[in-house]
Amino acid sequence: MSISLPICPCQINPSSDDISAPLLYQDCCQPYHDGLLNNEADKIDGAKPDSAERLMRTRYSAFVLVVPEYIIKTTLPSQQNLLDIQAIESWAKETDWAGLEIVAHTTKLGKHHAQVEFKAYFKTPEGLQAHHELSAFVKTKNKADNDASWYFLDPTVSMSVTQKQPCICGSGEKFKRCCGAYI
Ligand SMILES: [Zn+2]
Ligand SMILES: [Zn+2]
Repeated sequence: MSISLPICPCQINPSSDDISAPLLYQDCCQPYHDGLLNNEADKIDGAKPDSAERLMRTRYSAFVLVVPEYIIKTTLPSQQNLLDIQAIESWAKETDWAGLEIVAHTTKLGKHHAQVEFKAYFKTPEGLQAHHELSAFVKTKNKADNDASWYFLDPTVSMSVTQKQPCICGSGEKFKRCCGAYI
């Protein structure tokens, strides 16, 4: 007997005619979601995104599947307590998600950063629309396991940091020469 398993939300790209086999959720974003959420400390036991694009895809899938905890935990740690989990959850629920297109992935931007340009599609009564965004990501050490991880840099969070202060990502560089250049 075969059961049909769900395709990963990040594998649906309405702008492409490519019919190559899309990955199932269990073989795509699920190990990352489970790995980050199924443990108490900040330590990550399961799969950990090894690139900004991989992290971007798992964050998109977390929006579609309404896993706001994953969105919070993959944002830069110093920004996490400034996020509104309720607002993220309602926005994720109210949006009729329709797919993801990765437009470009700049894997190396300076020493610690990467950028992903993407379109997140959603349905509206007027038809298909997309959030077209350029997101910045930073690779920084996780205090719990002293292992470097990629994090999303949220440009909408206002932080009281001056250009000359040490960066919010913990790189030890001045903010303006580090994450300040991207948010
Ligand atoms: Zn996926
Ligand atoms: Zn930084």
